[in-house]
Amino acid sequence: MAEAAKTIAILGHIRPDGDCVGSCLAVYNYLTEQVPEREIQIYLEEPPVKFSYLKGFETISQNAGTGKIYDLCICLDASDKARLGDFAPYLDHARHSLCVDHHVTNAGYCEKNEILADISSTCEHLCHFMEKDRISKAVAECLYTGILHDTNVFKNSNTSGRTMEIAGMLMDKGIDFNRIINESFYRKTYIQNQILGRALLESITLLDGRCIFSVIREKDIAFYGVTGSDFEGIVEQLQITAGVECAIFMYEISDHYYKVSMRSGDKVDVAKIASYFGGGGHVRAAGCSMGGSVHDVVNNLTLHIEQQLNAREQEI
Ligand code: 5GP
Ligand code: MN
Repeated sequence: MAEAAKTIAILGHIRPDGDCVGSCLAVYNYLTEQVPEREIQIYLEEPPVKFSYLKGFETISQNAGTGKIYDLCICLDASDKARLGDFAPYLDHARHSLCVDHHVTNAGYCEKNEILADISSTCEHLCHFMEKDRISKAVAECLYTGILHDTNVFKNSNTSGRTMEIAGMLMDKGIDFNRIINESFYRKTYIQNQILGRALLESITLLDGRCIFSVIREKDIAFYGVTGSDFEGIVEQLQITAGVECAIFMYEISDHYYKVSMRSGDKVDVAKIASYFGGGGHVRAAGCSMGGSVHDVVNNLTLHIEQQLNAREQEI
């Protein structure tokens, strides 16, 4: 598809994370190197600055209104059209479209859809479409970043032997993996640590300690001056609490409207719950947006969590 296209738009998902930014820039750099003289443009909401070491980061555009019609639109790591945010018109008007993704809830919204739900990340999936010998150090840095972030440094259950082989191949390209891990994953700003501390301090356990939740309100978001990407890692920290099967972290995006993140151990399918509330994701990591009081939102979610936990206990 990319060979014939003279103009290519690359899109990811709203609130871009490591796999989203990594996969967009991996494709951008690979195509720029392999099929030069194409006009390629990435459109994304402003990506976290911690990924600025990736080649091409500064070329990412936030302009949703150019009205340009592309020969090909490539959608990466976005499980449905709504996740493309304001940039969806580039897909609507493109002559051809391709989606590469790894979300179990992705029903396929492009002309061609390459979706593999059992794989760690979109970046790992992309490796299947790239010739190994042609992966440059710059592309390897992008792919490694995406895999690293979606596996939580190769610890999540979505990490396979193949994931590690691919990571090894990328390391052999000479990337500074130690710096990438420390600076893009573990490094936190002072404010990010403060908000993490606040979320942990105010967390509440439910369902006999099998569920934990925490919420950050709009007024606190304004007080600390934080944005969505500053909350990365909070739900994972909640999830590692001993005895917890399912963690919920939410922050208020507008009055009584919350962005919800869920993580689970091996008993709860959070993709199913997130999909029920109009979101999506993976079996062990999913999200959605919900309105109402905190009490209502938590009650609605825990009802589903409890049902699943009870069903599992009856199986045993
Ligand atoms: P996070 O909790 O880190 O925002 O997202 C966890 C996973 O769920 C990611 O793979 C993300 O793409 C997916 N996800 C989060 N929120 C939504 C949402 O509102 N809709 C859909 N379809 N997927 C989401
Ligand atoms: Mn991903």
